Amino acid sequence: MTHSPSVPQTWDHEADVVVVGFGAAGMAAAVTAHELGAKVLILEKAPEGQEGGNTRVAGQGYLNTSSVESAIAYLTALNGPFTVPEAMVRVWAEEMCQNNDWLRGLGGDPQEHQHPPVGIEFPDLPGADCVHKFHDGPTYGYSYTWKLFERLVKERPIGILYETPAKQLIQNDITKEILGVRTAQGLRIKARKAVVLTCGGFENNQEMIRNYLPGVPYCYTSGSPYNEGDGITMAMSVGADLWHMNNYAGPSMALKVPEVRTSFSMQALHYSKQPPGGAIVVGPDGKRFTDEKYKTRHGKVPVNGRWLPLATPCPMFLIFDHTHFAAGPLYDGHPSHGWTQIVERYEWSADNSAELTKGWIKTAPTLGALAEAIGLSPATLDATVARWNQSCQMGRDTEFNRTLMLNPIVEGPFYAVELSPSMLNTQGGPRRNERAQIVRPDGTPIPRLYSSGELASPALRMSDLCPSVPHRA
Ligand SMILES: Cc1cc2nc3c(=O)[nH]c(=O)nc-3n(C[C@H](O)[C@H](O)[C@H](O)COP(=O)(O)OP(=O)(O)OC[C@H]3O[C@@H](n4cnc5c(N)ncnc54)[C@H](O)[C@@H]3O)c2cc1C
Repeated sequence: MTHSPSVPQTWDHEADVVVVGFGAAGMAAAVTAHELGAKVLILEKAPEGQEGGNTRVAGQGYLNTSSVESAIAYLTALNGPFTVPEAMVRVWAEEMCQNNDWLRGLGGDPQEHQHPPVGIEFPDLPGADCVHKFHDGPTYGYSYTWKLFERLVKERPIGILYETPAKQLIQNDITKEILGVRTAQGLRIKARKAVVLTCGGFENNQEMIRNYLPGVPYCYTSGSPYNEGDGITMAMSVGADLWHMNNYAGPSMALKVPEVRTSFSMQALHYSKQPPGGAIVVGPDGKRFTDEKYKTRHGKVPVNGRWLPLATPCPMFLIFDHTHFAAGPLYDGHPSHGWTQIVERYEWSADNSAELTKGWIKTAPTLGALAEAIGLSPATLDATVARWNQSCQMGRDTEFNRTLMLNPIVEGPFYAVELSPSMLNTQGGPRRNERAQIVRPDGTPIPRLYSSGELASPALRMSDLCPSVPHRA
């Protein structure tokens, strides 16, 4: 080996393959490498019990495709003008078609025989009929798929170091090979063959959000608080190119408070729930800007024949009346998916009184006083609510064609909850090729450095697709 001054002379741990991040992609990389005979070590940033990233709290839906050519047609159509290299689309399609066999081969249950496919977001696109999406959450409870993934790792002799965030890649200055990882604690981890970055996106890195996501000055996640874009910083430092940084599974509108790391979705905004009372959302100008009950496609709404991110003029406010406030908890904490429900386990008070006392909900006897309390123009908020109430009376939302929960805002006192843009996950990160190698701006691979999963999904428009797993890494 050529001598390189930044390479440590001694190491604290050593493995053939070092996997950074223990979510779905980390599991797939670790198990695959192990099955091929490698000694594998996983570094995980979260403490034990909070590993699993977004995978742990996802809806647990996963995809299998039944035809390579149709899957190519579907992803190509989904990408539209946001094209990605054909080789990337093909390898994605080939690997997706093996998902069930791969899972079955590891002793997992591919679910296909149990559930009819659900929830393909764009069924009208060419090739869509080859996509089978399965959703086990409602059948077995939350985190079902994750529990299977976790078991697949734990029943193998794969090392896991919890609370051990990777901080820096160790690169040979001359050959540019990646030789290992330095952790936040300063541990030196040697990777004899490869480092695979599977440490998720930048959902919790507000500076990256400001720089890379379109139209949001800040945004919060309903997924893991540990995904802070570390893989992006590490890969950039060794010369990686970036891609797909401007795409994300969002935005939605949710409550975020400093006391809790992740966001709360409000019942009033869920398309499938119709609690009593009147509720609308207004922007900083005191006016409505959207159909609040629209079922977006992972934050995308139709605009002039294209799917664009929902506009989220910040700060936004959910405005509602006493009937809605008194009808029950404004937030449903039942664990099904989302970090707040499954891991934080915040217990929202049944009558909303605790959250009122904390100041998460603001109240005032009149709309004018409420507007003043939250910094809006009283006259504009009054006019907005009057117009909304008129629409409810007519049974037709004249502004945004909303069809659900057409209830007027009438009974005081009145209430407001500040809403922020929220998301599931980001899609961008270090650009990779069809062999899952992280590449430089000129397309050449950085030797021994790979990635998978949400850290740079292979396509820009993967809103209803699982991250690809590097079966071939
Ligand atoms: C609420 C919600 C519902 C969703 N529902 C679905 C669904 O039904 N179907 C679907 O396909 N997708 C769904 N998604 C998206 C899906 O969860 C993600 O795309 C997928 O889980 C990403 O997997 P991953 O392994 O790449 O990242 P993650 O599962 O997020 O794992 C990343 C891991 O890396 C760790 N990490 C971060 N930084 C470091 C570091 N420096 N060092 C070491 N470890 C680090 C994290 O702690 C974490 O454990 C959902 C997402 C959310 C938030």
